[in-house]
Amino acid sequence: MTARMSVGLRARAWLAPLLLLACAVVSGCVATGPAGEARTPKNIIILYGDGAAATQWEFGRYTSRVLRNKSFAITDVIFKEGNVGLLTVHSADSFVTDSAAAATALSTGHKTNNGMAGVTPDGKAVKTVMEAAKASGKRIGLITTAAVHDASPTAFAVHAKSRRDGESIIDQYLALEPDVLMGGGRDFFLPKGKGGGKRTDGRDMLAAFAAKGYQVVQDPAALRTATGPRLLALFSDQDLALEIDRDPKEEPSTAEMTAAAIRILSANSQNGFVLFVENENIDSAGHRNDAAALVQALWAIDDAAQVALDFRRRAPGDTLVLVTGDHETGGLSVTYAQKDLSSLSSANRLYPVDSHLQMVSRIRISLAKAVELIGRKPTAEALDKVVAENFPGFRLDDDLRTAFLKGQPLERNAASYLPQPTLARMISRQTGIYWGTTGHTTEPVVVGAVGPGAPLFRGYMENTDFAKILHKLIEGR
Ligand SMILES: [Zn+2]
Repeated sequence: MTARMSVGLRARAWLAPLLLLACAVVSGCVATGPAGEARTPKNIIILYGDGAAATQWEFGRYTSRVLRNKSFAITDVIFKEGNVGLLTVHSADSFVTDSAAAATALSTGHKTNNGMAGVTPDGKAVKTVMEAAKASGKRIGLITTAAVHDASPTAFAVHAKSRRDGESIIDQYLALEPDVLMGGGRDFFLPKGKGGGKRTDGRDMLAAFAAKGYQVVQDPAALRTATGPRLLALFSDQDLALEIDRDPKEEPSTAEMTAAAIRILSANSQNGFVLFVENENIDSAGHRNDAAALVQALWAIDDAAQVALDFRRRAPGDTLVLVTGDHETGGLSVTYAQKDLSSLSSANRLYPVDSHLQMVSRIRISLAKAVELIGRKPTAEALDKVVAENFPGFRLDDDLRTAFLKGQPLERNAASYLPQPTLARMISRQTGIYWGTTGHTTEPVVVGAVGPGAPLFRGYMENTDFAKILHKLIEGR
């Protein structure tokens, strides 16, 4: 513990009610707080929006209310009724973090270099949240809409000097034995030549998990009836589909995966469980500047948050529900801008209103899907046809059409995932939903917490503090 951290914890203790202070001098009574509520949770559910900071949660809240007439549980319940903090996001080697370094900070309490997961910059393995939970006798589960060997679940559970080392990451999962492992990423479970397999050692890891007593499921119907007690559920060779493109017969929603994991983990869990639920699509949509895909991704993780809150309600003293993200993606900026450059007067400004959000809600497919339909060698005809059929009400300006067809970026900071950000600018110009980058930004991320231990997450902290608090809660300290 650093001196700064110790001061922080002491300062927070001063804020606690008098009963707690009295309690602190009596040995053995620190496990309970005011009104007898346990201060250390039995169960912890971490809802993790990859690419989500305050800007994204606000976008989710507002669009949920306007477009589906539904409150947004993350802001309206967890942030409002629980405790809110802000976390810095810089990594050991850059002001701008990647997902691996951010997740390492949030899981181990150590800043590391971009690209590294569950290790310090010199490559030393440091204890992850899931290793701590396992050591405390808790059941553990990892869910992601990305590949299960992607950066965030990896850094929350195991160790990789390179986040790309899928084969070793799966081997470490087999050794760690998470009770639930769910998402995409079947490629590193199968040897080359078998399905979409990428393993170079010839091993079939689906068989290896089954031999360790895992139920292995690969479609949503099987997930609905899965009983565990150990479950490996893989629905895709790589990432799962963006929510806006998802076929519910092929892949489950984030909420469905969360419900199944909670059902399995909470059965026979004397010492409780720790469940990590990541929606990666917020990051994927941000990188591509895809507003319509972002709306659906945010609603998907909020539906999962609702499932977590429903479970919490059954025994509120038992379960801590946390919401956070690793960094902001895309520099999302809903703003007013000129409708065009024919006049710079304020009368020619577009102020986003509900009808602009409704235009976004009528978009039928992701930008990634649109680019796939347009084809590798795009023609103006194919581009205009895909826009007309899937982006009703939108008009593609000539400069954007030209840039799209030439594969030219609009700016240096919109040069990844081409030509998707070019098509995205069409949406920006007509809705006011602009983006500053196709990369990550330095916006601090929000942590929301409700349940035992939640007040510890209040205030402005380093992202490493999140891990330090979490480890204490898991270890019952
Ligand atoms: Zn990212």
